[in-house]
Amino acid sequence: MTETSAVAEAEQVLAEVTGSSEAPESGPKFTLELNQDQKDIKEWVHGFAEGVVRPAAEEWDEREETPWPVIQEAAKIGLYGFEALGQFWADDTGLTLPIANEELFWGDAGIGMAIMGSSLAVAAIFGQGTPEQMGEWIPQCFGTAADVKLGAFCASEPDAGSDVSAIRTTAKYDEARDEWVINGQKAWATNGGIANVHVVIASVDRELGSRGHAAFVIPPGTKGCEQGAKVKKHGLRASHTADIHLDDCRVPGSCLLGGKEKLDERLARVREGKKSKSQAAMQTFEASRPTVGAQALGIARAAYEYSLEYAKERRQFGKAIIENQSIAFALADMKLEIDAARLLVWRAAWMGRSGQRFENAEGSMSKLKAGEVAVWATERAIQILGGNGYTREFPVERMHRDAKIYTIFEGTSEIQRLVISRAISGVHVK
Ligand SMILES: Cc1cc2nc3c(=O)[nH]c(=O)nc-3n(C[C@H](O)[C@H](O)[C@H](O)COP(=O)(O)OP(=O)(O)OC[C@H]3O[C@@H](n4cnc5c(N)ncnc54)[C@H](O)[C@@H]3O)c2cc1C
Repeated sequence: MTETSAVAEAEQVLAEVTGSSEAPESGPKFTLELNQDQKDIKEWVHGFAEGVVRPAAEEWDEREETPWPVIQEAAKIGLYGFEALGQFWADDTGLTLPIANEELFWGDAGIGMAIMGSSLAVAAIFGQGTPEQMGEWIPQCFGTAADVKLGAFCASEPDAGSDVSAIRTTAKYDEARDEWVINGQKAWATNGGIANVHVVIASVDRELGSRGHAAFVIPPGTKGCEQGAKVKKHGLRASHTADIHLDDCRVPGSCLLGGKEKLDERLARVREGKKSKSQAAMQTFEASRPTVGAQALGIARAAYEYSLEYAKERRQFGKAIIENQSIAFALADMKLEIDAARLLVWRAAWMGRSGQRFENAEGSMSKLKAGEVAVWATERAIQILGGNGYTREFPVERMHRDAKIYTIFEGTSEIQRLVISRAISGVHVK
């Protein structure tokens, strides 16, 4: 398997577990003028980020633990749960989802991911499951405000990161018992081991590469599904990340997302050599990337705002440090880059929701730009704060650590560049 075909296959399998790229034939015109619903949701999420998330950020980063009480607070106001995700998604301009993510992650990215991490599993069930499976498992990814639960999406493995086609976890069907037997190891699963519901990607036919992959729900308390090592991370430390071991993990036949008939039909098509859905897969992926970009934007904006205020107050050589061009220009560039990244994020979000074709991998552009801006802007913020910026007494140090993951997960910056360069050139760039 070459790395380039691996990328295409990785995109296909993830698209298959996150659903089809079918989009409405026409959608609303793009406008930067937010409607009242969008403004209300922005204000609502911002209020929670400012009043609840921010004050808790340092504590949970230091504790490196899942902030259950904060998730519970989010559930109480309806921000954690399928209704909220549904409400964000219902906006046919596509902008509400990135707006809500930017505001939440402006509060704190570690806690933001603790709240949003379940949505990966939910997206897989929503995109791939039957209506019965959605009804059964999605509520169990969230629990209730009194008893919150989490979901985890487990695709990556120790030897299968960017190259998802290299997945070794297998699922074998035991016809006599109508059960699937899953064996393998998953790596870096957000909420892995502490989730109520795990969605696991496994191979049902290794010879077919990623086209032989399928998604399975592992119900709560299933034997043979155990948490491995909890990962100690550079950033996003309030979000739990761990390995998952699957040892003869038996799940009912009904846990195969989409059902066996659909899987058998798909496998038969692939074995007959029928055309793959890679173009549709690309479109699906492109549509989900702006949401991740919006999270990075939230971090970048928080660092920019903090360093702007600091630069106005901090005095050296008898004047505020912002009176020095080098500091003021750095802040001007930060504002410029953040706004430019947001325009890319909003454009891609609108394109994805309104069914525009991503001719130039605009979704990848948005995630790539926002992730790199977040890393760069948070580093600049540390520089503006000087020694204080380097300490844990000031939040920009945490923001910089949190930002770095946005050039790595959900497709590294290199993989995004690969996707963009292929889209603009038509050449199978390697
Ligand atoms: C905090 C955190 C949370 C995560 N959460 C989840 C989760 O919930 N579920 C899940 O399934 N996974 C999750 N992941 C895994 C994440 O998706 C992978 O880390 C990511 O896909 C990169 O894979 P890798 O780490 O194996 O890097 P590799 O694929 O080994 O890449 C290493 C380097 O090589 C480069 N590279 C690889 N291939 C190419 C190529 N073809 N061309 C150019 N450069 C290339 C990469 O860009 C990178 O710089 C998480 C990871 C982290 C750190």
